[in-house]
Amino acid sequence: MREMGLSRRQQLELEDIYAGLEKAYSQVADELQFSCRGCPDNCCDSYFLHHSYVEWIYLWHGLSELPSRQQQELRQRADCYLSECGRAAERGERPQVMCPLNESGLCLVYQHRLLVCRTHGVPARMRRPDGQVLHFPGCFRCQEIVAARNGGVPEVDRTALLSRLARLERDLRQQHRLEVPRLRLTIAEMLLQGPPRSLL
Ligand code: SF4
Ligand code: SF4
Repeated sequence: MREMGLSRRQQLELEDIYAGLEKAYSQVADELQFSCRGCPDNCCDSYFLHHSYVEWIYLWHGLSELPSRQQQELRQRADCYLSECGRAAERGERPQVMCPLNESGLCLVYQHRLLVCRTHGVPARMRRPDGQVLHFPGCFRCQEIVAARNGGVPEVDRTALLSRLARLERDLRQQHRLEVPRLRLTIAEMLLQGPPRSLL
């Protein structure tokens, strides 16, 4: 099994999607005068599953730049993370465990962090293929700002950018003839499993 990679075109497309999301995020954050500065919380302990090989590969672009000793430490942290998540699940709770890639409040792979890490915070909307529009209110601090505000609520429209990501993922899956079901992995699992591998 060989390690899956992104072509230059695929990588540029992913980076352009991320840049588009960050630009849209900044516009809404500026309009709401919102930032994470001074927040007592750290969203890197939120439990998220991730669904794309494209992002898994790109995350590993960042991880592989870290010294091998640090990668080893991160694997140990990822193990602890999954054990804690398992204990929370046994108690019937949604896990709230700090991401193994967070070091003293900062992301060790900031340039390579995943889409969810780049979008949480400000209000957003997304139109599903069936036409239904989903609204995301943003984090608790942003919701407080919105509640105290007169007038409309600006939102990041994720629809076009997420469609591009879905197309990119579809291309990659076709290229590697991946017929497995949709991924459902935490960052810790992506770390422990190493970069994704193709059967081709
Ligand atoms: S997104 Fe919101 S809750 Fe999370 S760190 Fe930023 S301000 Fe705090
Ligand atoms: S990858 Fe980075 S930004 Fe995302 S949850 Fe982990 S530490 Fe936070």
